[in-house]
Amino acid sequence: MARGNESGQWRHARSHGAGPRSVHPPPDAQPNRTIATEGDRDILVARAAGFLSRFGYLGEHDCPNDLLCPHTATALARFQRYFGLAPTGTLTTETLKLMSRPRCGVPDVEPGAVEADEDTDPFTFRGGTWDRQQVSWVALNRTPDMTDEMEQLTAANDTWSTLLPIDLPYDGTLEAPLQFSWQVGDHGDGSPFDGPGRVLAHAFYPRDGRLHFDEAENWRNHAGEGVYDLQTLALHELGHALGLGHSPLREAAMYPFYQGERRTPHEVDLKGMRSRYPTRVDAGGDPFVTVPLYALESTGGCDVITVHVGGPHPLLAWGQVTMVDSRGDLDRDNYCAVEVYEVDHERRGGRVFGGDHFGADGSPCNCYAGVWAGNASEITFRLSVGNRQDVEAFGTGNIMVLTGDLG
Ligand SMILES: [Zn+2]
Ligand SMILES: [Zn+2]
Repeated sequence: MARGNESGQWRHARSHGAGPRSVHPPPDAQPNRTIATEGDRDILVARAAGFLSRFGYLGEHDCPNDLLCPHTATALARFQRYFGLAPTGTLTTETLKLMSRPRCGVPDVEPGAVEADEDTDPFTFRGGTWDRQQVSWVALNRTPDMTDEMEQLTAANDTWSTLLPIDLPYDGTLEAPLQFSWQVGDHGDGSPFDGPGRVLAHAFYPRDGRLHFDEAENWRNHAGEGVYDLQTLALHELGHALGLGHSPLREAAMYPFYQGERRTPHEVDLKGMRSRYPTRVDAGGDPFVTVPLYALESTGGCDVITVHVGGPHPLLAWGQVTMVDSRGDLDRDNYCAVEVYEVDHERRGGRVFGGDHFGADGSPCNCYAGVWAGNASEITFRLSVGNRQDVEAFGTGNIMVLTGDLG
């Protein structure tokens, strides 16, 4: 559905007092031009600094607000890098335009030192996970904007639960761990809403369970000019409530800016979520265990299984792809990888390795990730494919429990 054009959104935000009224909308032409000479520069800098600290890019610092100080410039460059803009550290019209778009109120990053890859990871984990198979939900109030808000919230919950080994049923009691509500302005959780436009909703990481929509917005069961699709925001906020952070990938449901109707997760969202909530298998005392892995369209192109072997025991663990099936356009955009993803809940580095890109339909692939050897109680295998519409893969996760010590 049509989203308002950029200048329209800027006007929309201003007309409700979300920003200083003396600020002129930046011209759409010359997107990389630096705003250095305009009289409103100090206001723009102060506003950008406010944005950067609100969304995690800029920590506490002593410089005056109306100054593009080194801290603010560094934070600005980080914001620009995160969203694929030229990381100049200067206020370009393109940067200001992006900042003015409606979005989720949850910070994108955390200020200060970051792990090298965190800002470019297609998915990020924040907070913990829910420690149960079933996480029920309730809506504490309703919005006067809609009559079918419960259906829309149900649909968003069902979308995640059909794709994950976790159930999100409606509960309707105050015992439900996930609690949706509509809130206005400062509503007592340290993240006040800001009237129409700008911040639309926010949620808290596990195991908090609060998901809030800004009642100052116009909520609908579709996207459109000046209105927001509730199901899209509910899907996104549920992502946070289950433990996912923001993604810099535009196609992801966890992209922080609102882009109109987006009611299904992208495969990177599913890879993140399934990696957080693996299927669990208890291998008992078997010395040799093989579990099936299927990375299909229906599993979001990703299968993650944790095998519990007791112990800790000395063991060998390895994954193997047994078949790759072309579903559509099998080309070099496709990949397939199998990993020993976690050992006793510790991630083994942030990189997929042992995968392969494919040249042509039916070509052999080398998806063998190598053998992990060591002492462990639990091994998590992950099989994933890229472009799940085009390719699916079958594989196995294998464990051989050894007797005696690893020499
Ligand atoms: Zn968000
Ligand atoms: Zn809130």
